[in-house]
Amino acid sequence: MKIICIGRNYAKHIEELSNERPLNPVVFLKPDSAILQKNNPFFIPTFSQDVHHEVEVLIKINKVGKHIATKFAHKYYDEIGLGIDFTARDIQQQCKEKGLPWEKSKAFDGSAVVGQFYPKTSFDIDNLSFQLLKNNEIVQDGNTNAMLWKIDELISYVSQYFTLKKGDIIFTGTPAGVGKISTDDILIGMIKDFKAFEIKVK
Ligand code: ZN
Repeated sequence: MKIICIGRNYAKHIEELSNERPLNPVVFLKPDSAILQKNNPFFIPTFSQDVHHEVEVLIKINKVGKHIATKFAHKYYDEIGLGIDFTARDIQQQCKEKGLPWEKSKAFDGSAVVGQFYPKTSFDIDNLSFQLLKNNEIVQDGNTNAMLWKIDELISYVSQYFTLKKGDIIFTGTPAGVGKISTDDILIGMIKDFKAFEIKVK
């Protein structure tokens, strides 16, 4: 399986990192080795002094598709979840400055937290609230209604470049409030009223 991630999909997050608003979705990949194994803590990698949490709504693809039209995109997923796109912000900044690819900062081992998935019928997909709590305080508070590109548009867009396969996961971008994590932090992800994950940072 592969993980396809969307960057800069929420206007307030673009502002907080002083990024440019893109004309098209920003897309990057994580390998399957990036997935944090269930019930494992997240170990801050030694190569970064500034790892940030980015809580994101996840889509699990349910069948093969390529060149999917937006109006048919809803047929390609049944489940929605929540996860974290851990980002070594200091390394990413170096890569951005040099115009180099981001993978070292975004695709390292453990950088993809994939929480519980739920049937999409449990949610109003285009008006779905989600939060990240750090040590029981809400640090990111998002709603899919603020996405620049909606879920069906994202599926259509990425399928123009990559054949989607059953089990692939799309990270749909983070809202504002990203920040540094520290040893002993507890990160809890909430989607609507469901607790999708709880991660200990080491
Ligand atoms: Zn992200």
